[in-house]
Amino acid sequence: MNIPLTIKETQDGLKSKKFSAVELVDAYLAQIKKYNSEYNVFLTVTEELAYAKAKEIDRGDKTSHLAGVIVSYKDIFLTKGVRTTAGSKILESYIPPYSATSVSRIEAAGAIPIGKLYCDAFAHGASGENSDFGRTLNPWGKEYVPGGSSSGSAASVSAGMSLISLGSDTGGSTRQPANFCNLVGLKPTYGVIPRYGVISMSSSLDTIGSFAHTVDDIEIMFDVMRGTDGYDSTVSNFKKPNIKNKFKLGIAKEYFIDGLDSEVENMINDVKKTYEKIGIEVVELTLPHTKYMVPVYYIIQPAEVSSNLGRFDGIRYGSARQSFGEEAKRRIMIGSYVLSAGYYDAYYEKAMKVRTKIINDFDEAFKTVDAIISPVSPTPAFKLGANTSDPLKMYLEDIYTTTANLVGIPGLAIPSTFSKSGLPIGFQLLGPRFSEHQLFELGKKYHKEIDYKPKIAL
Ligand code: GLN
Repeated sequence: MNIPLTIKETQDGLKSKKFSAVELVDAYLAQIKKYNSEYNVFLTVTEELAYAKAKEIDRGDKTSHLAGVIVSYKDIFLTKGVRTTAGSKILESYIPPYSATSVSRIEAAGAIPIGKLYCDAFAHGASGENSDFGRTLNPWGKEYVPGGSSSGSAASVSAGMSLISLGSDTGGSTRQPANFCNLVGLKPTYGVIPRYGVISMSSSLDTIGSFAHTVDDIEIMFDVMRGTDGYDSTVSNFKKPNIKNKFKLGIAKEYFIDGLDSEVENMINDVKKTYEKIGIEVVELTLPHTKYMVPVYYIIQPAEVSSNLGRFDGIRYGSARQSFGEEAKRRIMIGSYVLSAGYYDAYYEKAMKVRTKIINDFDEAFKTVDAIISPVSPTPAFKLGANTSDPLKMYLEDIYTTTANLVGIPGLAIPSTFSKSGLPIGFQLLGPRFSEHQLFELGKKYHKEIDYKPKIAL
């Protein structure tokens, strides 16, 4: 059986009895068994749970939004009764007593959970190489990183080991791995999908990310997961906006920096031409504070990390503090420093003021355009080990992604083409708060025009 690549293909197949849900589990598990030990994608495979749920679907209702859809979770999503490590030895044997809201909602809609995925420990990273359990390889080229921190989520969907996956996006961890693995990835507006039950990294930046092969599927996942749950007080009620039929897009002149790879730059120019061809105007605009994104992010984020990781004190649960990896220790130290008396004003407070200026830049830009076209990362996937000896070099990976988190707006990563060396390249659309459905519409228009066909890597 050919693995279906969309939710619709899955559901049409189930309804017409082309295959059963049990056969779907067989097919995705076969991919996991064949490639997992080589690529390090799943930390835990929930085979029994998957078959139990598949049998239920085969016996009963096949009409719910995600009936029969095989889902995998980054290992920072709490899953009741199933080990959740956050990619760290600190939580090596932690079994949560409840599930995250997003997990419960995805499963209530009929999805079949197949397992928990590798990720950078506590979601700190841009390559998957900060995991305490080993690094994940990119299914499109084994010597390359799959991106991070949701490394396993991207690898799992692109390798045909699950149809959809949940990750998180605090500074790019969904969009960048989606981009390195030829997938659509959504970072939603802050406060639309509840964060309840997802291990906190940086509470003013954390969002729940989705991975799939198509924009249609990301939209279905978004509509299933959004809305208040009574546990995350930052979530507001969300009304689906009316979609316009005339759009105007912008590209910031500040995005064309020195380190931008020429193939990525050419792709951005092609995306512009594609939109113009279908009658959408694209204008140049300015986001003057772009150069402060990474410095501001790397003050605010570690400050919040140093507070959130305080709960892993080795007393209440989890292993002793010595088990923290290098990157977590680095962030705890930087965060404590920027918050300490005497340095707070010079670093944290100043960063918060610049954050407001960055927000103002975007509010200003969205007065004239409906969305902004941007690269996701300056280069296609880089080689394993290329950035591990220099944390600052690794942090520069986040130059195009941290914006959306600092401003609280949605970002949709969209696969476009392949580099000469055969690696995926894509772009992202950034829109005003709560404009997800508008971004979906724009993403679908682009894929329709280039006649995009999803494929799996292995
Ligand atoms: N690469 C960024 C970091 O290491 C983003 C992480 C994330 O979004 N979880 O902080």
